[in-house]
Parts: sequence; C-alpha cells; structure tokens
Amino acid sequence: MRALKGKAAVVTGGTRGIGRAIALELAARGADLLLTYRGNEEAAEECRALLSACDIRAEFLRGDAADPAHSEAVLALVKERFGRADILVNNAGVARDKLLLRMSAADFDEIVRTDLSGAFYMMRALAPLMTKQRAGRIVNISSVVGLRGNPGQVNYAAAKAGLIGMTLSAAKELGSRGITVNAVAPGYIATEMTEGLSEAQKTAMAEAISLRRVGAPEDVAKAVAFLASDDASYITGQVLGVDGGIII
Ligand code: NDP
Repeated sequence: MRALKGKAAVVTGGTRGIGRAIALELAARGADLLLTYRGNEEAAEECRALLSACDIRAEFLRGDAADPAHSEAVLALVKERFGRADILVNNAGVARDKLLLRMSAADFDEIVRTDLSGAFYMMRALAPLMTKQRAGRIVNISSVVGLRGNPGQVNYAAAKAGLIGMTLSAAKELGSRGITVNAVAPGYIATEMTEGLSEAQKTAMAEAISLRRVGAPEDVAKAVAFLASDDASYITGQVLGVDGGIII
C-alpha cells in the first residue's frame, strides 16, 4: 500500500475538498506532500492535523495559483525540502457563475487565470525537474463542464476545456522524457464548491447521474492516485471521467 514511499507530490489547492482527499490518498500510499492553498488557514491546519498521523513529510505553502511567481516558490520549496518532484496534481480551482450576458471581463479572466493559467505555471515550473529525473506524473483536474458545457459557466467551461487541450499537448511534449500527463474530469462532487448550488440545480444534477449518487472527494482521489502510480506508467494524454455516468 505504501507504493509511493520516497516520492514527492505537489497538490495545488490540497487543503480542502477534492484536493485534501487527494493529499490523504497519496499520503496513505507513502508520498511526501507539498500542499498549496489560497488563504483558508483553518482548513490548512485541519489538513495538517489529519496528515500528522500518516508518517510522511508534509509542507504547506500559501499563495495564489494565478500568480506565476507562486509556481517558482513551489519549485524552490519542493527542491529544498524533498530534492525532487515526482507527482504534480493541478487541482486548485474556483468558479464564479454568471450568465454570459452578465459576465464581466474580470469574472472571465479571474477563473481562466486561476483554473487554467495556474496549472500552466505549475507544469512549466516543475517539468524541468521531472525531466532531469526522467520520470514524472502530472494530473490536471478538469471537469465534465469542460467536456459538455453548462449554463452560467462560460468562464469555468473555457478554463476546464483549456486544461484538456493543455494536457494533450503537454503529454505529447513530455512523453519522451518519461513524464505522463493526464486529466481527470469529475462530475458532481460534494464539496464546499458545490454547496452553494440551488436545491433545484442539485436535484437536477443528481437525477442525471447513472449511479444515482453524488460523488465524494475520495472517488476522485482514488482515480488520481491510480494515474500517479506505477500501474499507470503506459497511460498518457487521457481524460478520465469520475462522474458516476453523468456524461453518458
Ligand atoms: P473547494 O472550493 O472545496 O477547494 C478549493 C481548493 O483550492 C482550496 O484548497 C482552495 O484554497 C484552493 N484554491 C482556490 N483558489 C486558489 C488560488 N487562487 N490559489 C491557490 N489555491 C486556491 O473546491 P473542490 O474541492 O470542489 O474542487 C477542486 C477542483 O476540482 C477544482 O479545480 C474544481 O474546479 C474541480 N472540480 C470540482 C467539482 C465538484 O463538483 N466539486 C466537479 C468538477 C471539477 P483555500 O482553502 O485557501 O481557499
């Protein structure tokens, strides 16, 4: 079960929701962790306490994924503390839903900068280290919304669809260096991000799920841990849906 012992993983937005579940899953498999977050110190402390039982090293770095300088700080810390980077999970993401006609340029840009540019900055920062190691696993957290769109989410859908295109291109570029790049596209997962949906939205989404249950962060975490493992060494450029069949 500790197949990731000796590996170092960076999980952006790793202190809450899906990111925290990914962090706990990777820790259970023995990986050391660097978790980033935007500003919720309470969630970060709670996560630190949970990880203290896992017999791994865990570092936390507060910063804004949308700031290119933040990715350089992540690289510096991961080098200093672990001397390597084996796994990168680009999970940090936000939504700011509005209908197209009411969406400001700022609403659009903020989501694209955080959810899409943020992942690009992190890949660009860490890929050279992975290239030196001739091995690496990158997993980008997209969304079913990036595959089929959603009313009120033009900004979010653009960012999440962009992540898929970026994943495919990076997989082609980095494959010869032993680095796999994949995306996971979750459906409706119960976290603080989806808590704010109206009851009508929640009911409509739950009814559209073939497996008739809302997903848990752990459902996504297991898929990410698989793609980050040696078992997935011949899988790259894929988009793995973790959506209970909402897309079929
Ligand atoms: P949450 O809102 O529960 O958690 C978001 C995490 O990202 C937090 O750790 C937060 O830090 C961090 N974060 C947010 N903005 C930034 C930023 N600018 N810089 C650095 N860190 C940031 O989200 P979820 O767990 O629900 O979602 C995680 C990912 O999964 C997102 O990319 C989301 O788009 C995607 N997803 C979610 C689905 C769902 O149904 N929940 C479905 C499909 C995809 P802090 O705590 O400090 O705010």
